Amino acid sequence: MLLGAIADDFTGASDLANTLAKGGMATTQFVGVPKGGATTDCEAGVVALKTRSIPAAEAVRQSIEAADWLKAQGCEQFLFKYCSTFDSTPKGNIGPVAEALLERLGADLAVVCPVFPATGRRLYMGHLFVGEKLLSESGMEKHPLTPMTDPNIRRWLRLQTKGEVGLITLDTVRAGPEALADAFEAERKKGVRLVVTDAVADSDLMALGASLAGYRLVTGGSGVALGLPENFRHAGKLAGKSKAKTVARGPAVVLSGSCSTASQRQVGVYLKSHPGLAIDPHELMDGSMTIDKAATWIAGQNGAVPIVYSTADPASVAKAQQNFGRAELAAKVEHFFAGLVKRLVDSGVRRVVVGGGETSGAIVEALGITSMSIGEEIDPGVPALVAERNGPLGLALKSGNFGNDDFFEKAVERIGTA
Ligand code: ADP
Repeated sequence: MLLGAIADDFTGASDLANTLAKGGMATTQFVGVPKGGATTDCEAGVVALKTRSIPAAEAVRQSIEAADWLKAQGCEQFLFKYCSTFDSTPKGNIGPVAEALLERLGADLAVVCPVFPATGRRLYMGHLFVGEKLLSESGMEKHPLTPMTDPNIRRWLRLQTKGEVGLITLDTVRAGPEALADAFEAERKKGVRLVVTDAVADSDLMALGASLAGYRLVTGGSGVALGLPENFRHAGKLAGKSKAKTVARGPAVVLSGSCSTASQRQVGVYLKSHPGLAIDPHELMDGSMTIDKAATWIAGQNGAVPIVYSTADPASVAKAQQNFGRAELAAKVEHFFAGLVKRLVDSGVRRVVVGGGETSGAIVEALGITSMSIGEEIDPGVPALVAERNGPLGLALKSGNFGNDDFFEKAVERIGTA
C-alpha cells in the first residue's frame, strides 16, 4: 500500500476511492479500521470512518488508529479526507484530527484544500464557494449538525486548531511549481503547519497534487486526490492495474430503499423490463410482508433479475412516517433489507445492486463486509465493487441522487456475470 486515506464518512470514502482508482491506483475501501493486516493487495487504501460529527477527542482517537494501521501496511503518504463543504464546528473535527495526524506521522506541514470543482466547491482567497454562492449563503449555514456560518476557511479552521493557519492564494498556485514550493517553504519557516490553499479548477488541483509529492500528510476533499496518483506513477511505483476485475458469477438482485427523485425514476425504468416487488411500509409494520415472503418471491423469478423496493414518492413516505415515526420506520425498512440480503447471499446470490446510502450501510454491515476493491465506474461517482464473502461478491452501492435513469440495469451487468 502506497497511499493511505482516512475518510470521515462512508460516502466520502467511496467518492475518494473512486477518484483514486480512476487516477490509476489499485484501490480498496475498508469499512472501519481492519482488525488484522489487509487481505487484499492494493496501492491505495481508504479507511471509512464515521467521525465527522462525533466528539473531537474520539474522532482523533479513531483517525490515529486508522493512520497507524495504514502505516503498518507500508503507506508512504497519508490523506485525511473530509467534506468539500468543510463540514465542521468551531470545535472540530477537521482541525484537531489534522493536527493530531501531523504529530503522529512526524510531518511538519500539510495542505488544507476542500476544493471539488466538479460539484462547484471552489476556494478563492481562502473563501469557499458552492457554485456561485459563498459557503455561508449556500444553505450550509443551516446544516443541522455542522452549520457553516463563515466561508473564510482559514479563519474557521483557526477556531479548531492549536497552531496558526496559513494561506496560499490562487495566483501562487498558478505561478508554477517553484513558486508554490517556495510558498509552502515560507509558511513552514513561519512555523505554520496547516496551509489553506486556493484552487478553482481541476488544473489547479493537478498542479497542487504534483507539488505534494514529498508531503507525508495531505488533507482535503476528494478533489485534492486528483493529482496524487500521478506522483506514484511518475516514481514508477504503480503496476497499472487500477480497476478490480468484476469476477463475481451468479444470480443477481436489485434492492432499493432510497426515496430520492433519481431513485424513483431509476426504479420506474427498471420495472419496465424486470419483475418487481414493492415493499409497503404498512405491510412491514403489520407483519404481512416478511423476509421469508420476499425471498420466496425472488426464488420464483426463474433467472430474471428482480428488484425489491421500498422506494416511494414523498407524499407516501411522509404519510408512512406520520403513522409510524420517522426513525422507527427507517429502522424497520433497513432491518428488512439487511435480513433479506443476508438470506439471498447465503443462498447463492453473487451480485447485489443497492439504491440508498443508509440502505447500503445496513446491507454492508449485515453481510459482514469489511473491505471492497474498487472496479470500473458505472455512472459518475459510483464504481463497481468486489467484496469477498465465500468467493467474490459483486456490489454496486448508490447513494441518493447518483446514477442515470438506466443505472440499475447497467449496474447488474457491470458487477459480474450470471
Ligand atoms: P438516500 O441515499 O436516497 O438518502 P437512504 O437509504 O440513505 O437513501 O435513505 C432512505 C431512508 O428511508 C432509509 O432509512 C430507508 O429505510 C427509509 N425508507 C425507505 N423506504 C421508505 C418508505 N417507503 N417510507 C419511509 N421510509 C422509507
